[in-house]
Amino acid sequence: MGAPACYESLLEATREAHLIGATSAVLSWDQETMMPPGGVELRSRQLAQLARLQHELSTAERVGELLSQCEADANLAADPASPTTAALRELRRDYSRATKLPASLVEELAKVTSIAQHEWAEARKASDFSRFEPHLKRIVELNRQTAACFGWPKSGEVWDALAEGYEPGCTAAQVEAVFTPLRAQLQAILDRILGATQRPSNRFNELPLNTDTQQRFVRMVAERIGFDFNRGRLDTSTHPFCGGSHCRDVRLTTRFSPNCLLDGLGSTMHEAGHGMYEQGLPFDQCGTPLGEAVSLGIHESQSRLWENQVGRSRAFWKWGTPQLAQFFGAAVAGFPAEEIYGAANIVEPGYIRVDADEATYNMHIMVRFQLERRLISGDLDPADLPEAWNELYRVYLHLEVPDDRRGCLQDVHWSMGAFGYFPTYTLGTLTAAQMYEAACRDIPGLEAGFGEGQFAPLREWLNARVHSLGRQLRPDALCRSVTGASLSAEPFLRHLRSKLFPLYGLS
Ligand code: ZN
Repeated sequence: MGAPACYESLLEATREAHLIGATSAVLSWDQETMMPPGGVELRSRQLAQLARLQHELSTAERVGELLSQCEADANLAADPASPTTAALRELRRDYSRATKLPASLVEELAKVTSIAQHEWAEARKASDFSRFEPHLKRIVELNRQTAACFGWPKSGEVWDALAEGYEPGCTAAQVEAVFTPLRAQLQAILDRILGATQRPSNRFNELPLNTDTQQRFVRMVAERIGFDFNRGRLDTSTHPFCGGSHCRDVRLTTRFSPNCLLDGLGSTMHEAGHGMYEQGLPFDQCGTPLGEAVSLGIHESQSRLWENQVGRSRAFWKWGTPQLAQFFGAAVAGFPAEEIYGAANIVEPGYIRVDADEATYNMHIMVRFQLERRLISGDLDPADLPEAWNELYRVYLHLEVPDDRRGCLQDVHWSMGAFGYFPTYTLGTLTAAQMYEAACRDIPGLEAGFGEGQFAPLREWLNARVHSLGRQLRPDALCRSVTGASLSAEPFLRHLRSKLFPLYGLS
């Protein structure tokens, strides 16, 4: 027996709205990679129009009626564990969130953030926070209004209503409960590493290598770890990202640094991890919750896993070093695998989040979480952001921030209106380590296989347990189903200690 007509019609309506989003995604990709600067004005109008159309389609009364009919259908709701029940749960969630926002607020936020992103870029170039400040103020106000429309439980706070949009179920209290002990443990690891007398050589990170050859090399690696170029592309952009419109058309971007192959390789493996998640979603569910990723944190777990657990491992470089020689010839002669492995794992506190190593990265996120929580609660005036930022960098990383360009103006997120987003980077990092431990338990000889260039067992393992499920499970349930436990920082801390301490001559 087929699904009831109301369910078929509901999915059809959802797919129509998704098509608009998918069209915008290609236009956004084009804007970052191909579009001439002159196209900006009309492109932002094209995107705003599509956003409005998508909002109209997904909040249509008929969608609500179909949802209610489906929910009342005993056959559809019979099995609480079925994919259909999960799809209905997620469709209800999306509909109820979307209809809580008045179209005027959606449009206002789109308009304000599109101008703010431009002003932020200019302010960052000039390292002049005062130019961005009025925009940030307005964005914070609009985000507080947005949060008020969504609402939050009595025990929670304003920030929670915004975070829910990126990580279902995530609250500030939970994040704090993870971050506080994690910070103490990270500090202890950092103190030992920074006090060590032995450290890996940085020589490989200062080696000039032809960027065209770098491009061919990282493409080969992306393909080898499992990114499917028949269903995806790799281009360059200022800020690497993974975009595209659906699982058969995934657009990755990366960037290259002439003196550091590991920059371009790391960002390519990272984005390829996101891309393999997208390619692993079921095509026949495209446009429905069962064909979408669970959350930003889970998405980030897939990218970090390939970038860090795989790309910065000794086994990966056992395979990768002879590959390097094939591409770069004499330029890389005299660099043994062990030295490149060391160079990929140098720990050095710095000002810039996107350049941070695995040991300091999460400190950058903790600073941003504290600040955005205070901005959104009204406890921190946007005008005081630079001072508060610099103070936290003193406390967390013992650094004196030299200017706002390398301080509170470095990230694009707040100018895009994204509050509640940052912690998903750390949640993803922790999830990656926990999933990787589970994969090592499940797949005999996993790491030895990397040394032979065999990455398919890991990709297939992730595909079966994470990618192919779409949004059937919420983040916490997915973590328990994949790893057998709720999210914990311990696997990540074990990962750091077991890898970094020997490299720094520590036991
Ligand atoms: Zn990412």
